[in-house]
Formats: sequence, structure tokens, C-alpha cells
Amino acid sequence: MKKDLKFNSKTIHGGQQPDKAYGAVMPPIYQTSTYAQSTPGGHKGYEYSRSANPTRTALEQALASIENGSYGMAFASGLAAIDAVLKLLSPGNEVICTSDLYGGSYRLFKRIFEKYGIHFHFVEMDNVETIEAHINPNTKMVWVETPTNPMMNIIDIKAVSELTKKHGLLLAVDNTFATPYLQQPLDLGADIVMHSATKYLGGHSDVVVGGLVVKDKSLADQLYFIQNASGAVCGPMDSFLTLRGIKTLHVRMQRHCENGAAIAKYLVAHPKIEKVYWPGFETHPNHKVAMAQMKGFGGMISFVPKGNYGDAIKIVENLKLFTLAESLGGVESLAGHPASMTHASIPKEEREKSGVVDALIRLSVGIEDVEDLIADLEQALTQ
Ligand SMILES: *Cc1c(COP(=O)(O)O)cnc(C)c1O
Repeated sequence: MKKDLKFNSKTIHGGQQPDKAYGAVMPPIYQTSTYAQSTPGGHKGYEYSRSANPTRTALEQALASIENGSYGMAFASGLAAIDAVLKLLSPGNEVICTSDLYGGSYRLFKRIFEKYGIHFHFVEMDNVETIEAHINPNTKMVWVETPTNPMMNIIDIKAVSELTKKHGLLLAVDNTFATPYLQQPLDLGADIVMHSATKYLGGHSDVVVGGLVVKDKSLADQLYFIQNASGAVCGPMDSFLTLRGIKTLHVRMQRHCENGAAIAKYLVAHPKIEKVYWPGFETHPNHKVAMAQMKGFGGMISFVPKGNYGDAIKIVENLKLFTLAESLGGVESLAGHPASMTHASIPKEEREKSGVVDALIRLSVGIEDVEDLIADLEQALTQ
């Protein structure tokens, strides 16, 4: 019955049932590493918490439900989830990925997995021909991030999935920025959806958690094997907090979108601003794709103020209500300076090729009163 629920109901009920022991409506935090067996192998589905834990199972089922998938897996961080996906590959395999990737993903690909003989191509994915040009017999996977971080480019997941199906490749989508409230990559043809649940799914900046969701049973089996064998699992307390966050995802996202739109429009009209990156503008190069594949434009905005590096630093330092911090997707508004923070691990030339100039500022617009947020930006820009 719960399969037929609409999205907002799924965030609350998807894959959930009252606890079997006492009927607890909210999943208890099973803070245990092991489980009593009546006879060797005689257990109630749980034997050791790396392999499975009931609180984590509740989160994994919620993740699968909200992404319209069949199998969910929860990890100790978003990067641990990405790490598990890459372990599907073997030396000699090649991956084609979005050019302006999350800095940590880039570092994991270049500095860890290249050592093990996996090769990565970072390409602009505005049109599928560019992706297709990089496909060869060693290509095994396409890794897509959309909207991209921090340039807010939008990649047409459906178009890419037609290409990956044609060539028998796996398509993985990092859905951290959009969340399933705005877009559901599995429905658009992706094989794997990945999340840093640290961000919007958790939503309260109080956990570091990762997730994967797939539809295919054999892919789920392989990923589950890796999850258990490598062991970077999500703990019970973090599973509980993330589940709690997911229950309000839809109401939070609605406000993130409203506030994001108001701030993007404020910034673009401001005389001290050079450029604003937000997919909701009709002038955004991928606006049509965004309209087709997303339900809204989210709370992430990047902009370049007029002036130089120093002026941008001054602006982020002057902000009072926006906290200068890494991360995104929480109820509170954050500002970041990608070149020195999230994207510092990407070489300057690589960074600037995709638009991450030294003056770029990224906002994660929270769910405060938007008038207060705009007043804060105004005082920071005009000081
Ligand atoms: C934060 C983030 C990650 C990494 O997730 P962690 O939970 O920090 O390990 C991956 N992709 C995107 C888009 C992110 O924003």
C-alpha cells in the first residue's frame, strides 16, 4: 500500500512501520553491535551491525522509498557512498564525469582511485555528443552531478541515460543538491542515485551520512556486498537523525525554493553584482532542462560580486545571519567561498575552466524569513 503514496507522504511513511518490539512509532536507536542468537545462525534478521542494524534498515528503506527505488544503503558519509560505487569497477575501467564536480568527489577520483588504475574524464555535459566522444571499450560508468556545485549547471539526466543504455554503461547521479523532492534520477533512467544526506536529507547540519539507492537487484547485491565488506556504514544514531530530517524534507525544500528564488532575483538586480548562477533564470543556459526535470530550483545560488578576490572575501566576512561555513542544505543559511574552501583541492586552472573564479561566492539559502536574509546580504554588499 505504501508504494502508492505520493512524495510528501513517503517522506514520513515510506518504508516505515511501527517497531516490532513495542510498537514505537518512531524507529528506536538500536545502539548495539551484536544480537543474541538462540542457536548458531538462529537470529531475527540481525547478527552484527556492520552487516545490518534495524535503525539503519529503517533509513535505508526510507531512502529507497523517496527516490522511487527498490534498495537503499546508508553509509558513514556521502564520500563513503561514492567510494562504494567506484569499487564496482576494476583496474583499466574508465569513468566519464561532470567537469565541475564536488571537490571531495574530484579528490577521491583523482587521488585515490586513479592509483588503482581507474581513469576519469571530466567533461562538460551540456550535450551528450561531448560525453559520447569520450566513450571507448574501457568505459564503464558515467557520473553525473546536477545541479553542479557550485556553478549550478543542469545536466539532462534522461538524455544521458539514453546514451548510457545504448552503450551498456552504468549511470550514477549525485542527487545531493536537488534531493528527490526536486528530481528523481531513477525515474529518468539512472541506475544509481547517490546522496550526501549530510546536506538536505538530514537538513539540520548535525550528521555526516551518505546514501545509495538502486532499482536493480543484482546491482543492489554487489553494492551491499561492498558496503558490508568495506564497512563504512551509517551508525544507528546518525540513521535516526537522518530519518527525522527526511520527514520534513518536503516542507523544508518548499521554503528553500521560495527563499532561493527571492534572493536570486534580489542579487541579479543589485548594482554590486557581476553575475548570478541560478537555474530559475530564463537566461540560464540550461533553464529548459531544469524546467523539464526539476520541480523547483532549490536553495543553492552562486554569484560573483563586482571587484576582486579581496572584495569577495570582505563580503563573506561581513555577513552576519549567513554563517561562513562549508556544507549546505541545512535549515540555516550558509555562505561559502569555493576557491578557498570546498574546491581548494581542485587546481586553479581546472577550477577556473569551469567558472569557479576566485571571487565566486556560494550561498546555501536556509528557511529563515527571507527579508532578514536579504537585509543581511544588503549590509554585507554595501559596507
Ligand atoms: C557534501 C557533498 C558530497 C560528499 O558528502 P559527505 O557527506 O561530505 O561525505 C558529495 N557530493 C556533493 C554534491 C556534496 O555536496
